[in-house]
Amino acid sequence: MTTKTSELRNLPLTALSEDERLFRDSVWEFANREVRPRVREMDEHAKIPRELIDKLFELGVMGIEIPDSFGGGGASFFHSVLAVEALSRVDPSIGVLVDVQNTLVINALLRWGSDDIRRRCLPKLAGGTVGAYALSEAGSGSDAFAMATRASEDGDGFTITGRKLWITNGSEAGLFIVFANVRPEAGYRGITAFVVERDYDGFSVGKKEDKLGIRASSTCELLFDNCRVARANVLGEVGKGYKAAIETLNEGRIGIGAQMIGLAQGALDHAVAYVKQRKQFGKTIAEFQAVQHQIARAATELEVARLSVYNAARLRDAGQPFLTEAAMCKIFSSEVAERVTSLAVNLFGGYGFVKDYPVEKLYRDAKIGQIYEGTSNLQLQTIAKQILG
Ligand SMILES: Cc1cc2nc3c(=O)[nH]c(=O)nc-3n(C[C@H](O)[C@H](O)[C@H](O)COP(=O)(O)OP(=O)(O)OC[C@H]3O[C@@H](n4cnc5c(N)ncnc54)[C@H](O)[C@@H]3O)c2cc1C
Repeated sequence: MTTKTSELRNLPLTALSEDERLFRDSVWEFANREVRPRVREMDEHAKIPRELIDKLFELGVMGIEIPDSFGGGGASFFHSVLAVEALSRVDPSIGVLVDVQNTLVINALLRWGSDDIRRRCLPKLAGGTVGAYALSEAGSGSDAFAMATRASEDGDGFTITGRKLWITNGSEAGLFIVFANVRPEAGYRGITAFVVERDYDGFSVGKKEDKLGIRASSTCELLFDNCRVARANVLGEVGKGYKAAIETLNEGRIGIGAQMIGLAQGALDHAVAYVKQRKQFGKTIAEFQAVQHQIARAATELEVARLSVYNAARLRDAGQPFLTEAAMCKIFSSEVAERVTSLAVNLFGGYGFVKDYPVEKLYRDAKIGQIYEGTSNLQLQTIAKQILG
């Protein structure tokens, strides 16, 4: 499945290699067949059925970049972007489940995991275990490194105490990457990343949030009460967790960009189909120039957002700097998603405001893009720093 960077030279950004196209088409076909019939029920019950998660594993989208030797797809980051986009076009909750698994959890393990951690964790993640990434706390969101969760050295390991909040996949996950500070007096230089498994003593999953959007995606509190973790579970080096967090989140936000363009495309698909059949004043509403221009503007914005997401992902796969582009693609695609979903609700008229039609859900789902993996203000801060020094 791997796409060589050399294959991409001189190609338009949106041109897909043969294996990228086949992969994207298979995910899109799956999204229509397996996800679409369940979207409303999952939103209402705020739950993703385990049988659907199992099917995502069978499809091969839960271990996209994991090497073949560990049971994964051995593909590129760009493949993850294609998968998240295609799934989010139908349901952004499924999009973020797959996004966190690949662009945060697996990505961090591939980059920072020791041979032992990779050997123990990657086959699990490719084979049925959902992962979660636990950085945020009640008192530390944007200022993530002000975390209060502590890890104390304890023989040949550490004991973690504290609480994480807002953790995506918390209900389903078996494996968690958890950030805690081992030397609070050293500030962010004490932050360390650990691999924690669900059955460890002293660890439990707490309250699940009741949310505005992406309701099927679980968002949970995690509780650590003297949770003992072996030294072999330190991801990277002690005190270097801040670096692991920054680097994985820089990449992860390209995945959120992919979620947002998929979601916006889904809303536009619904709007285009609807305006062609809804009649007012004796014509379809698509015949009104005002409506045509609104659709044209939405499609244009979406195209630009997609180019920025694909460019950031291609830069990352090519080993080139992508920090600014990743922040830009996230802020822009999340704003476009909000505008396009809002337009879709408007074009559906009263039907856009009720749950019998799909666009009100996408409108609710779009809002999260400006909040998680760094709020829009924080993205602007990153971009400004690159420009102004
Ligand atoms: C559905 C959902 C899923 C999530 N999933 C995860 C997950 O899997 N793992 C995880 O670790 N976290 C997760 N989060 C947490 C998320 O990343 C944080 O909510 C986010 O980073 C914002 O932090 P906060 O909520 O504390 O807001 P705050 O940091 O308190 O921000 C509040 C407001 O202040 C603004 N602000 C803050 N600092 C500045 C500044 N310096 N300059 C300008 N404006 C500023 C922000 O832009 C925002 O508008 C999730 C959150 C949600 C809602």
